[in-house]
Amino acid sequence: MNAASPTRPTFDIDAVVAGEARLSPADALWFYRHASLHDLGRWASAVAARKVAETYPDQPANQTPVRTYVIDRNINYTNVCTAHCTFCAFRRDLGEADAYTLTTDQLHDKVRELADIGGTQVLLQGGMHPDLPIEWYEDMLRSLKQAFPGIHIHGFSPPEVVEFVAVFDIDGFPTTAPGRSHELAWDVWCAKLEAILRRLMDAGLDSLPGGGGEIFAEPIRQRIGLGKATAKQWLEVMSAAHRQGMHTSATMMFGHIEGVADRIDHMDRVRRAQDAAIEGGWPGRYVSFISWPFQRENTPLGRLPEWDVVSADPFPGDLVAEGADAKDIARFAKVVRMSGATDYLRTQAISRLFLDNVFSIGSSWVTMGPKIGQLGLFYGANDMGSVMMEENVVSAAGTTYCLSEPVLCHLIRDAGFTPAQRDNRYRLIKVHESGADHASPDTAVTDWSSQRAAKLHVEADA
Ligand code: SF4
Repeated sequence: MNAASPTRPTFDIDAVVAGEARLSPADALWFYRHASLHDLGRWASAVAARKVAETYPDQPANQTPVRTYVIDRNINYTNVCTAHCTFCAFRRDLGEADAYTLTTDQLHDKVRELADIGGTQVLLQGGMHPDLPIEWYEDMLRSLKQAFPGIHIHGFSPPEVVEFVAVFDIDGFPTTAPGRSHELAWDVWCAKLEAILRRLMDAGLDSLPGGGGEIFAEPIRQRIGLGKATAKQWLEVMSAAHRQGMHTSATMMFGHIEGVADRIDHMDRVRRAQDAAIEGGWPGRYVSFISWPFQRENTPLGRLPEWDVVSADPFPGDLVAEGADAKDIARFAKVVRMSGATDYLRTQAISRLFLDNVFSIGSSWVTMGPKIGQLGLFYGANDMGSVMMEENVVSAAGTTYCLSEPVLCHLIRDAGFTPAQRDNRYRLIKVHESGADHASPDTAVTDWSSQRAAKLHVEADA
């Protein structure tokens, strides 16, 4: 640590690690900039260990602590989207030759394959389709629940829900053109949102994923999420879900035009929203936070030139994040500062230290690769996310990692932990203790050559 910094926070970091004090946003920014990567990893690991021990108190003393994963399938039911996010290589306009919307039979086939391998959760996310009515979604949810009652439906990230508020024709509520839901009065918007979530829940929706969080700060969001939910709308969708009893996750995509203070601000908004849910006694909560660096291939944002990291000039995004007017910073949003492995680990460790009221921090092996994903377990992550059968959005921007259950278990065990399959609420389903019985997915493997990380399926190419 740089002990010479004159602005070093005065409090004891050990109190943060012990859960007895909170990092302020200014403290978190200081630690991001000045703490050594090793110290951040050590502190974040200690917090993760404490939270895991509190959450799973019945683990045997002679067993290494669990680190978890889930078996789910990410189904992108349509790639038609009215938004034009500059980091997206997945979206298509309605009518484009390779635009698609899955049929009920196709959806059922995919979920059946998931159930056949012991999967417990389906992640349903689409583009923001302008023409599908609420009845289409209700029919989809009901038919999936009827056919697969044991599968948890984790679906519709806040930008999709915001678009539902714009275009769904519901008795007693106005509609707007796609992407124009902000034209509704805020109280009307909130009431329609609550009504939509209630209907989707009644049809079988179990929880909401945190997609589309990106970076909440408006100067960033306006430039990268064209036509997408505002930060206020994103957070209100999740709060409404929490009030109605659904759990959610929060995400952050960083390493593009934002400043580091924007990342801390993003975490701070999640922490404050979680505080409100806890203080309000709402039955739903953010159960996890997952962050990952922007993937640039095939995206408009990725075509921006890369910032020269050895430049003596401050990064434009940092200037705007710390108070400069974006109009006065000539190169703001004209250059990207990509995140590599160490910046990813540093950011994840800060998220673990900062988000004291969120249980799980997920490691993003999907974008960072298996080895950095494994290393993430030493930088605050307690969860390795999903054994992924299918992913289309990030993979369209160049990501190529897909891991089988044995490989994921092996990565967790190799890091010194006990792999455990969990459900959406982080309850343990199977704890894969080591031993000679070969009952675990990884210990049963005799030929690892067939278990390499595979390229993710890209729906648009199919
Ligand atoms: S990231 Fe999602 S919301 Fe944005 S353009 Fe792509 S599909 Fe649409």
